[in-house]
Amino acid sequence: MSGVRIPVVWSDAHVDHAPTLQAIDGVDYPHPEVPSRPRLIRDALVAEGLADLIPSNPCDDLLVDRVHAPAYRRFIDCACGELTGDEQLAPAGVSADPTVLESDSLAVRASYFAFGADAPLMRATYRAARSAVDVAVTGAGLVKNGSPHVFALCRPPGHHAEHDRMGGFCYFNNAVIAAHELLPAGPVAILDVDYHHGNGSQHLTYDRPDMLYVSLHADPKFAYPGFSGMAAERGSGDGEGYNHNYPLWPGTAIDDYAATLSGACERIAAFAPAGLVVSLGFDTHADDPIASFDLRSEDFARIGAQIAALDLPTLHVLEGGYALARLGESAVAYVGALT
Ligand SMILES: [Zn+2]
Repeated sequence: MSGVRIPVVWSDAHVDHAPTLQAIDGVDYPHPEVPSRPRLIRDALVAEGLADLIPSNPCDDLLVDRVHAPAYRRFIDCACGELTGDEQLAPAGVSADPTVLESDSLAVRASYFAFGADAPLMRATYRAARSAVDVAVTGAGLVKNGSPHVFALCRPPGHHAEHDRMGGFCYFNNAVIAAHELLPAGPVAILDVDYHHGNGSQHLTYDRPDMLYVSLHADPKFAYPGFSGMAAERGSGDGEGYNHNYPLWPGTAIDDYAATLSGACERIAAFAPAGLVVSLGFDTHADDPIASFDLRSEDFARIGAQIAALDLPTLHVLEGGYALARLGESAVAYVGALT
């Protein structure tokens, strides 16, 4: 392989965040968001000579707090501190009633800061989620300093995380936090190519004309998160017209995907941003255990080439992707096509 190396930002501070079970309709299933995911990508990129590994630097909590409610960040910090060992705590449900915060039950209190039960808390979760922000912000700094493409190997993922609610394996919205870092140079576009709609990213940018959110994802009529991602969601207020969703059908393969991505990239080019953040999920792969698109590992080269053709300073932020045997080769195809 004769690719050009790109900076790949990395941290192993997330590895003790290792939820093992996920409850769906009261039944426990193995949790797909496992600690090995970024390491598999990192090792494959290094083996192919495509990565300059960069350790992340810690960033200030204020960068999290300008995107998320400070009380939400502090809750996750304190709640994790109450857990011991490998204990896993799922929110008891979803509540908008602030009196639940007076409950003796941590699971009940967590329901005020969750939109589902699939982002469990463990003792190591806060440190992991904060380290993912550090990785994204470090990557944004490298882009600001002139690197045309930087890959931030964030884990846990972030695009489902809302202003003050966790869910969908996500706690802090790494991509939106990083986009704020790029904003001083001019408007920023976020292109979300994860299989799932990034409800959190959409909502955190929905009323902003300086952050364009464009997403290709499985139609919410049949896929998670279900409550957002329709084409009619176009932004609100000053952000009207700065949100574009491209819902796709099950079984979508590369030709249809690439044609849709082409239209999405035209939207981004017309916006003429100063920088681009890609929410990069590999769960569009045909072998992904929780998704139903039909992309092959080599198809990610075509996706990478289309995105690179935008010729924008770009931070690629890892989101989902759970076919462990396919992560490395998919990432190699994608990164190899960037340069
Ligand atoms: Zn996903």
